Amino acid sequence: MPRFAYVNGSFLPHGSAQVHIEDRGFQFADSIYEVIACIDGVLADERGHFDRLARSLKEIGMAMPMPRNSLRLIIRELLRRNKLKNAAVYIQVTRGVYKRDFPFPPDHVPQTLVITARPFNFKRNPKIRKGIQVFSVPDLRWKRRDIKTTALIAQVLAKQQAVERGGYEAWMVDDSGFVTEGSSSNAWIVTNDGKIVTRAATHDILRGVTRSAIEKICADMHLQFVERSFTIAEAQKARECFTSSAVALIMPVVKIDGKVIGGGKPGPVALKLYDAYLDYAAKGKQVSWKA
Ligand code: PMP
Repeated sequence: MPRFAYVNGSFLPHGSAQVHIEDRGFQFADSIYEVIACIDGVLADERGHFDRLARSLKEIGMAMPMPRNSLRLIIRELLRRNKLKNAAVYIQVTRGVYKRDFPFPPDHVPQTLVITARPFNFKRNPKIRKGIQVFSVPDLRWKRRDIKTTALIAQVLAKQQAVERGGYEAWMVDDSGFVTEGSSSNAWIVTNDGKIVTRAATHDILRGVTRSAIEKICADMHLQFVERSFTIAEAQKARECFTSSAVALIMPVVKIDGKVIGGGKPGPVALKLYDAYLDYAAKGKQVSWKA
């Protein structure tokens, strides 16, 4: 079956869909992206992802490429043409095509908008039941990690290091020894007194839309959600650890830097949050994403 991508107003065969070599996304990573899970035909946390897209664009001096309703229609049409009900949807907006120079191009230069959808089976991901292994790496990124740009080279290198050591995710550690987040996820621990802890959402991390949903789910389930920093040593002694992201959802962590966590099996809190998140997404519940 042919696969389609959306590029600047057209649905094109995925294999031949292209952007220009002078595109600022390619030249400078002058570009913002979002990833939304479509689970059983429902775009999970769509509002939160659009909120964050608008905010990331604003922070680098760009506007939304079109009204939200138009974006919604295009995404649904793309999913329909690709016959997908379970997919990871990627939206990428760049500052357009212009001769290579650092300052912004003139206002009349149109943005580039690319949307792709690829099949993803959220419910039968075996890693959820087995848990994943994490390795720590220094956080080499810039100071505005709250903006979801495609300048992801530090995360590419972090993840590669983890993969080469047999892991699945890298937890990045700041200069003071505290975990910031995963290369493509937020990092969480469950303390021995049952608190669900993740780093405060400052400019140091990307405020995950899934993270915001977990905050809401914790409140609904009377679980104690705490925002504070933690070290790798504390995580290794925690009752449970997990990561969150739109695509991996809630992923139990069973080993960090070779040290087994919680008996080496996914913990009950992570699994409960995973089920609760699927239920939250299926019912089309959403939280507004706040900057
Ligand atoms: N932090 C980073 C660095 C990420 O790339 C992601 C994935 N987008 C997240 C956190 C989790 O964000 P979300 O839950 O919105 O996918």
